[in-house]
Amino acid sequence: MTYDDQNIFARILRGELPAIKVYEDDQVLAFMDIMPQADGHTLVIPKTPAITLLDLDPEIAAYTIQVVQKIAKAIEKGLGVDGIVLMQLSGATAGQTVPHVHFHLVPTSLHNLGKHAAQMGDQEKIKQLAEKIKAAL
Ligand code: 5GP
Repeated sequence: MTYDDQNIFARILRGELPAIKVYEDDQVLAFMDIMPQADGHTLVIPKTPAITLLDLDPEIAAYTIQVVQKIAKAIEKGLGVDGIVLMQLSGATAGQTVPHVHFHLVPTSLHNLGKHAAQMGDQEKIKQLAEKIKAAL
């Protein structure tokens, strides 16, 4: 499969679409999920174009996981939670809807995971959660 540079996350990376960002460096971006499966649902993406984890350069994957860990710690501290579901869907068959590799950090239990990419969240509330995560970084 060829990487589609018009996918939503590619457009967010180019600044063509807005996102509520919590962390950014030259290789990775972390931002709030627009249809959260729980309060504080955050996405971490490498900036390099890759569709799934299987396509991703291993060194970039390793660095991205370091950022995933950093954001997970900030979610726990900033939101006062103590459990996070780390989810990574590789391929449409697995349920992946946006074809740019990403890691979901969902502060909830596996048993309470809401519906996937189903309902727009309250963007004001999401902004407030993002501020708390950023403050804990
Ligand atoms: P996937 O199904 O590919 O694993 O996850 C894609 C995620 O991106 C879903 O959780 C969905 O809610 C989220 N999402 C879809 N469109 C947008 C968008 O425009 N902005 C943001 N921030 N998240 C999005």
